Amino acid sequence: MSDCLFCKIAAKQIPAKLVHEDDELVAFRDIAPQAPTHILIIPRKHVPSLAELDDPALAGRMLLAAPHIAVAEGLHKTGWRTVFNTGSDGGQTVHHLHVHILGGRQMTWPPG
Ligand code: 5GP
Ligand code: ZN
Repeated sequence: MSDCLFCKIAAKQIPAKLVHEDDELVAFRDIAPQAPTHILIIPRKHVPSLAELDDPALAGRMLLAAPHIAVAEGLHKTGWRTVFNTGSDGGQTVHHLHVHILGGRQMTWPPG
């Protein structure tokens, strides 16, 4: 998708603070962090949201990347939150699939 912000980050056409990349995934720091650690994991492939994700292997890699990155960020003892915002009621603002990793402070429940 030529006009997709996260496709451009994955292609390094727009700078981001990368924390991980491999053949299928890129992870980078959120530009407006909602916690001391706030990282987004995206597939390189353009998938609009979790509603369109139909690749079980990619789903598994995204899910397993979350604890891998959280541990690398030192969140293993205190924990973290993983969030997929989907569609307008879900609060999704960037329409390229991403999972948020949030940590470094106590999270509240329910979310706002
Ligand atoms: P959503 O609301 O779609 O679940 O999350 C999108 C996230 O992308 C937001 O937390 C927002 O701060 C982040 N974001 C938006 N634009 C950029 C950008 O240009 N660079 C980075 N690193 N994060 C961004
Ligand atoms: Zn995209």
